[in-house]
Amino acid sequence: MARRRRIRWDRVGLVFGPVLLLILILCFSCNGSSHKGKNPASEISAAEPSSMDIVEQTLPTATDPQEGTQLADPAVNTKKELVVVIDAGHGGKDAGALNDPNTPTRLEKDDVLRLSLAVQKAFEKYPNIRVIMTRETDVFVELKDRCTIANEANADFFISIHRNSALTGDGVEIWVNNDAGGDNSMDKLLATYIMELLEDVGIAQNRGIKSGYRNSSSNEQSNNYYVNRNTNMPSCLIEMGFMTSAVDNQNFDNHLEEYAEAIATAVVELVTDRNLFTVETVQ
Ligand SMILES: [Zn+2]
Repeated sequence: MARRRRIRWDRVGLVFGPVLLLILILCFSCNGSSHKGKNPASEISAAEPSSMDIVEQTLPTATDPQEGTQLADPAVNTKKELVVVIDAGHGGKDAGALNDPNTPTRLEKDDVLRLSLAVQKAFEKYPNIRVIMTRETDVFVELKDRCTIANEANADFFISIHRNSALTGDGVEIWVNNDAGGDNSMDKLLATYIMELLEDVGIAQNRGIKSGYRNSSSNEQSNNYYVNRNTNMPSCLIEMGFMTSAVDNQNFDNHLEEYAEAIATAVVELVTDRNLFTVETVQ
């Protein structure tokens, strides 16, 4: 009995082993494809071309014989102006984060407006870069209107300036949309250039280039900063230090002009390094 049963199991193994393996392979590939199909990031990129795609589409490609002659003169370089949107977060009835929740003496909306206006000024020495501000005074602007301003202007970059609302911590972090792509995506390059130049000025710490939205690890489309998700061009959101950090506040006040200069220079260096645009400088 025992011997017969053992032989039967061997046969079962021989017959069903490969079948089981095949089923496992099929299940694995099914799971893989259905996961990809449900991945919101891939749906976003399929429905709406990423900002990187838009930049790339404006460049002639070597495979297009009709545009081959323009290769030495990239289309982006023939643009008359580069359009940069500077988005000062919050404003008006929306104070943003406070330095002290009980007795606030400092409001995020004021700090980010000061820095944003300084960035606007820092761009003035580049006559073919046009800066669009989503606000220049202490007014409330809806998030969707900030995005509409940038999208309707067909802006090349969108830089949102905020300060961190977390109650503890210090340093600077920069957020990009979670479907921004790899390190060479324009969103991440923009954030990286800005961070490097801010570090050169001096910040409490580099907290990194982060994807998505604070405390979120999922790829869900909703787990992004609204302005990163709803602008069509490379964008990032700078958390310019913590409102509750004395060292960040001191840095912010002492280095405001230099930080503004760093943000403007980052854009100029990025488009220059990538041969996307020839920036003119006022002599
Ligand atoms: Zn904010």
